[in-house]
Amino acid sequence: MASSALRFDGRVVLITGAGNGLGRAYALAFAERGAKVVVNDLGGSVSGEGKSTRAADDVVAEIKRKGGIAVANYDSVEAGKSLVDTAIRNFGRLDILVNNAGILRDKSFSKMAEAEWDAVYNVHLKGSFLVTRAAWDVMREQQFGRVIMTSSTSGLYGNFGQANYSAAKLGLVGLAHTLAIEGRKYNITCNAVAPTAGSRLSAGVMPPSYAAAVKPEFVAPLLLWLCHDSCTETKGIYEVGGGWVSKLRLERTLGAVMRSPTTTITPETVRDKWSVITDWTNADHPESTDQTTKRMLEIIEAMKAAP
Ligand code: NAD
Repeated sequence: MASSALRFDGRVVLITGAGNGLGRAYALAFAERGAKVVVNDLGGSVSGEGKSTRAADDVVAEIKRKGGIAVANYDSVEAGKSLVDTAIRNFGRLDILVNNAGILRDKSFSKMAEAEWDAVYNVHLKGSFLVTRAAWDVMREQQFGRVIMTSSTSGLYGNFGQANYSAAKLGLVGLAHTLAIEGRKYNITCNAVAPTAGSRLSAGVMPPSYAAAVKPEFVAPLLLWLCHDSCTETKGIYEVGGGWVSKLRLERTLGAVMRSPTTTITPETVRDKWSVITDWTNADHPESTDQTTKRMLEIIEAMKAAP
């Protein structure tokens, strides 16, 4: 039996960096399903140099041509509140925020200058903070919000030449986790996605045939589901691309306890127990700091009872 289509009528979506690639695909998909869209894009180069109104304007025009509703915002995400103000001024509310804008300044670590670190950090992590911080007040007030942070497999697994980008991208996962916790009582969810798509950003690292097979349009459906009223999923990390979606979690070994009332932990006991410490048999998947603290307390309690 076919279930009902996921619609976004009455919802207002702000997508950062929506003038190209993934952001553009998200903007078109949300608009097609009834959302009013703020298309933010600074219109600069892949490395974040320059600016132009063209990228955002083109996407707004495309949405309007297809019968949708959209407005442009040309500010850098570093302007934070001004992006949210565009949504409020034009549409009176903001329900969904997709932090997507991104640049690259790849260099191997030995050649990486502070300026390259700062440029990437400012757009990805600080930019997402600033826009989300402004949106948060609106969403809290409304008792509804859906926030997406854009991570990357480079952040999750590391990638040569991307120390700045990897750090910012994994930072976004930490940000998403805490916002998911803080947003719960306000009906605000926050999830992190690590997409793969052929775009101008990935053009340098993807062979053309691969890029063609992983279209941005294949990522958008996950975003729409995560941002729909009927989806209460939060605090998730997803890898997505080419029509494939998967969920990730942290895994922890059972570990080894190396203290007792008569012995203590030393570098040598750590060395000697290394195969136990790193044994994934019966590994668990802690989901909160409460769970990790509980485990620590159990261990301390068990040690007290030891002969
Ligand atoms: P893209 O270059 O096609 O699009 C990014 C857009 O962000 C551009 O239009 C750019 O003008 C805009 N932008 C850059 N800096 C901005 C700023 N300061 N303020 C506002 N807009 C700004 O790239 P894409 O591949 O679509 O990437 C989108 C997001 O997905 C990025 O965060 C990227 O890191 C992430 N990502 C992409 C891939 C991939 O395979 N394409 C993989 C992992 C993560």
